[in-house]
Amino acid sequence: MQLLTSVNLGLNSERARGMMIERLRAQGIEYEPVLAAMQQVPRHIFVDQGLASRAYENNALPIGYGQTISQPFIVARMIALACYPSKPQRVLEIGAGCGYQAAVLAQMIETVHTIERIYPLYQMAQRYLEALGLKDRVRLKFGDGQLGWEQAAPFDAIIIAAAGKTIPQNLLHQLAIGGRLIAPIGTTEQRLAYIQRTAPNHWQKHELEAVRFVPLKSGIQI
Ligand code: SAH
Repeated sequence: MQLLTSVNLGLNSERARGMMIERLRAQGIEYEPVLAAMQQVPRHIFVDQGLASRAYENNALPIGYGQTISQPFIVARMIALACYPSKPQRVLEIGAGCGYQAAVLAQMIETVHTIERIYPLYQMAQRYLEALGLKDRVRLKFGDGQLGWEQAAPFDAIIIAAAGKTIPQNLLHQLAIGGRLIAPIGTTEQRLAYIQRTAPNHWQKHELEAVRFVPLKSGIQI
């Protein structure tokens, strides 16, 4: 009986994910590898059980500590941008939250680095990623992501999942030449930015659509 229930849940969530992918396509996500990766990752595992039935709606959902799991559309959009013009080999995410975006990235990229500044969320991400067998593919660190991850740099792509007034200098310097950084910029009004490091001392910035993210904060929270 228990087995049957879990099989049913599995099939239902796969269908729900399929519908989510179709909606993402309809909203303009054309990059097939990210859609395939999102079809693989059970988003309902990353939210509180009470919210699991809403996991495949195109919404951000609360994960505690005033933070959210990002909206599926924005996850797809940022990863698609990070993979343009070519799929990166080394990726750094700032703001792991519960680990969903890192899990999606890990379907596409061999090793993903991600940092979270709120300790209980770091622990939550660790637990979920381990449950999905992604512990080795995702290097998760507790700390202030604004400092980046010097020992693992340079990165072909950096995705910031929280909005600051400016892009932290360390992160710009930890990009490989040709690498790009995708991040929301702004406080009350935010825009997504695509920044490419074109030379050792040159970064080219393109401003994209308006977005809404939780704030990028300094320091750590235990
Ligand atoms: N990537 C997540 C998004 C979580 S929301 C997902 O897949 O849904 C953004 C996260 O960024 C929050 O958990 C917040 O605590 C974290 N954050 C904010 N400022 C940070 C910083 N300086 N360093 C690391 N994480 C930060």
